[in-house]
Amino acid sequence: MTAQPRTTGPHADLLRAPFADLAEHGPDALVVIGEQGTIAYLNAAAEALFGYRRHWLLGRHYRTLLPGRFQGCNEDLRDVFATDPGVRQAGTDLDLFGLRRDGTEFPMEINFSPLPGPGHSGIVASIRDVTERKRSDAALREALSMVSATLESTADGILVVTSGGRIAGSNERFATMWGIPADLLASHDDGKVMDFVLDQLTDAESFVAKVRELYADPAAESLDSLHFRDGRTFERYSRPQRVANAIVGRVWSFRDISARKEAQDQAKTALEDVARQTEELKLLAFRDHLTGLPNRALFRERLEKALTAPERDGIHVLLLDLDNFKEVNDVLGHQAGDEMLTEVGSRLRRCVGPADTVARLGGDEFVILLTSTADPDAVAARAVAAANLPMTLHGHELHPSISLGLISADTGLQAPDLLRRADIAMYVAKAAGKNRYQRFHPDMMTALLARNELETGLRRAIDREEITVHFQPVVSAVSARVTQVEALVRWDRPEGLVPPSDFIPAAESTGLINAIGQEVLTQTCARLRPWLERDQERRAAVNVSAVQLREPGYARTVLETLAATGVRADQLILEVTESVFLDPAPHITAQLTLLRGHGIRVALDDFGTGYSSLGRLQDLPVDILKIDRSFVSVIITGNESLPILSSMTAMAHHLGLRITAEGVETPAQALHLLGLGCDSLQGYYFSRPVPAEDLPTAETDAAQRIRELNPAIAKSQS
Ligand code: C2E
Ligand code: CA
Ligand code: CA
Repeated sequence: MTAQPRTTGPHADLLRAPFADLAEHGPDALVVIGEQGTIAYLNAAAEALFGYRRHWLLGRHYRTLLPGRFQGCNEDLRDVFATDPGVRQAGTDLDLFGLRRDGTEFPMEINFSPLPGPGHSGIVASIRDVTERKRSDAALREALSMVSATLESTADGILVVTSGGRIAGSNERFATMWGIPADLLASHDDGKVMDFVLDQLTDAESFVAKVRELYADPAAESLDSLHFRDGRTFERYSRPQRVANAIVGRVWSFRDISARKEAQDQAKTALEDVARQTEELKLLAFRDHLTGLPNRALFRERLEKALTAPERDGIHVLLLDLDNFKEVNDVLGHQAGDEMLTEVGSRLRRCVGPADTVARLGGDEFVILLTSTADPDAVAARAVAAANLPMTLHGHELHPSISLGLISADTGLQAPDLLRRADIAMYVAKAAGKNRYQRFHPDMMTALLARNELETGLRRAIDREEITVHFQPVVSAVSARVTQVEALVRWDRPEGLVPPSDFIPAAESTGLINAIGQEVLTQTCARLRPWLERDQERRAAVNVSAVQLREPGYARTVLETLAATGVRADQLILEVTESVFLDPAPHITAQLTLLRGHGIRVALDDFGTGYSSLGRLQDLPVDILKIDRSFVSVIITGNESLPILSSMTAMAHHLGLRITAEGVETPAQALHLLGLGCDSLQGYYFSRPVPAEDLPTAETDAAQRIRELNPAIAKSQS
């Protein structure tokens, strides 16, 4: 109710004063307390605050407006003020409450002032409801305690400096991190604190410079690292301190990141280590250990990469391997073999350009990827020639040779197909006599199919009784008679006789040679037994492959076959090539020694064609040396001087070995060989190999030939 103020008593004049309106309608509740503590006036705000009608309160004791509990202890606020006018305020510190008419309470604050003007003993109480403020004060206190709790519990050291360079505050952590004594901090002097901390830093100057820069630019924010002499590292963060929008100072926060940095450094080192090791491993994984050349994996990678090029004209693959490498390894040892591989590797490398790849695929197999050559055939020819240059290995002069298959990638084939075709071409190069290169031709695929067909046919050949034996007479120089025949296998196919050179390699690689060899031995013994029985000086020779000798039971089956067919052991000759003795398997030589113990003789076939030397001869379990046809064919007139041939025969005789010369095709050759002291001669001049039924005729013809050659013998025989 906004009624006209009604007044009573001595204060009525006050309310008519010029401020009356102001008092009546001011925002604060005003209550004038007169003598005896009675309410002499109250304004509209007070009416509203306490919820009373004004006229009801006028004249009543002001205690009406206080809760009962204050009525005793606040023995007359009015009196307190009257006796000590210094007390102007009540309720700010003490929890003073007002009581509304409806019985509810509210926190209040009271300001007292004496009623102005002479003659008035009243007091004006200006009352404010502080419910709201109390509430926000509490919120503020809570926020502050949160901030300080946070500050003290954070791992960061925090320092707040005013714009005037005074330390406004810091937390405990700041002091401990920097080791700053409490009294120094208490001085609030940022300069002194600064001096104290600088000594600890490795680069105090730049820290000082940074701090200056930041104080010069109060709005700047910055982050960097501080390094301590004792090895610690702090992260420093600085930002302006703002109140509302004004910058009043600067907040510095420091974080000890030593552990983190150490961990980071360790992680970095570890990562670098791993990267380095990975790099090394990668290098190792892509290198051939022996030659240092790229290995198969790297070659494949480069080939596949090269094949992604749209233009494949310049890409060629050359696959090669060393001829007879196994023999080098076996005779001269693995170290010599390794040296040869390394040497061949570097020779190949010199045949190609820097952009080309020479890789070792493993064993004695190499491959070349040409990407920058216009003439791959020239490179292939150069590689073959370079490999074949002489090299000295452990005192021996050797001529390594390679067989090489070449294919160009312009065909659109992918890596595996290219390699397979290069391999086929290489195989053809080998079959054509080794030490050469061969360019792939699609016909070779047909040849490959033919080879497969050959193998299949060979498997059935034994069951179908297609394996037969021809016999070639060997004449004796001393008796001018046929004292020996060599059994030579033939494959009697419906389409004609197949010579052994066409199927023996396949038989060896498939292992079928074991069955075939057994068949030859059985047929030979069965066929020749009557012939052998007639003269104990007669001998039958059969060829034995190294593959057969690798079978541990080989010697036993030979002896069993002799027993079964009734042929005497001392009438059998086993012909083996040098390669047999290069095989490291000890039981190979052991089996030959065992067979010799039973009287069987061993002939060293094709002598002079392998890596074996004359010097090794004396250690071998052999009785007869068969001089290879290649040495015989050089005899043209019979009058030439042939030092190799003569030293061969001299050495063999010196070692007590018998000598048979193979491939004798002319009388001149026969005479020359007789002159060198060969014990037996074999060759087309005397007789070709013939089926068993033709052997008697062949024998007569051959004997006739030798008698014609050597009338002296003929006379002594007659
Ligand atoms: P080899 O043991 O050196 O046999 C001699 C080869 O030379 C035979 O060829 C023979 O026909 C041939 N020959 C004989 N005299 C002359 C001649 O005056 N001029 C020429 N140009 N050649 C002559 P063949 O029968 O084709 O046998 C070839 C090779 O096959 C044999 O060479 C031998 O290594 C192998 N071989 C033959 N039969 C068997 C066998 O039963 N078992 C095994 N493992 N290999 C056999
Ligand atoms: Ca032979
Ligand atoms: Ca031979």
